[in-house]
Amino acid sequence: MTHTIPGNYNPAPDLLAGKTILVTGAGDGIGRAAALSFASHGATVVLLGRTVAKLESVYDEIELAGGPQAAIFPMDLAVAGGEQCAELATAMTDTFGALDGLLHNASVLGERRPIESSTYAGWQEVMQVNVNAQFLLTRHLLPLLRAAPSASIVLTSSGVGRKGRAFWGAYAVSKFATEGFMQVLADELENTSEVRVNSLNPGATNTAMRRTAYPSETPTDNPAPADIMPAYLYLMGDDSKGVNGQALSVR
Ligand code: NDP
Repeated sequence: MTHTIPGNYNPAPDLLAGKTILVTGAGDGIGRAAALSFASHGATVVLLGRTVAKLESVYDEIELAGGPQAAIFPMDLAVAGGEQCAELATAMTDTFGALDGLLHNASVLGERRPIESSTYAGWQEVMQVNVNAQFLLTRHLLPLLRAAPSASIVLTSSGVGRKGRAFWGAYAVSKFATEGFMQVLADELENTSEVRVNSLNPGATNTAMRRTAYPSETPTDNPAPADIMPAYLYLMGDDSKGVNGQALSVR
């Protein structure tokens, strides 16, 4: 059955109290807003990203707002392998014992040019960060997600991950792969665990990535990351229990 996110979703202030949620790419853009929003609704947030100073600034902001103490896990997804993901899983097991939410948000845009003139190095970097790292992290964190009473995995898609478009190259293909990964995993977990898996297209949002992809746009014509958080909260909180295998959109 096709599901949509309730348009007027109004999360309870303590929606995520007691939950531990890991956000990739938590230092900037949508990931940063998600980390702050999850913490302000009671979650202990694990901030994963490649630029430690940005993660520290999110950590400080959560502390200043009186949210649960966050954790920082620096990881460059362009080079991370199974060993580093296994280390993360061990650290998470020792510290938290379970994981209630995993937001795969970090991505790179890569080259915006025709396939014919795309470089293999550019292609590989996008696939590594947007697809391979997502697999590795999920693979190693699944036992922790299974250990939670009801866990949610959210994978970040895009309009070009649902309909291909010229000059979006590896990025579009990586988002199609993300949708495929979501479908396979959701089908595997259906009826066998309390872990739900869905993809979410945030739509045009005023971030560094969007400004790079569309330099001629007026950035403030698009919603700010904070404006689209109800959809993220809905998917992370128990109000979306039972929603599985869905390709969802913020708008
Ligand atoms: P940003 O470029 O603003 O932020 C991306 C985040 O991912 C940053 O925190 C960045 O870290 C992190 N990141 C990038 N590469 C790596 C890496 N190798 N290792 C670890 N972290 C990394 O993007 P958005 O916030 O706009 O995008 C968030 C998600 O939403 C992405 O999946 C994107 O594809 C998707 N999306 C965005 C849309 C939009 O209009 N903004 C529309 C459709 C989809 P650092 O800050 O250190 O570089």
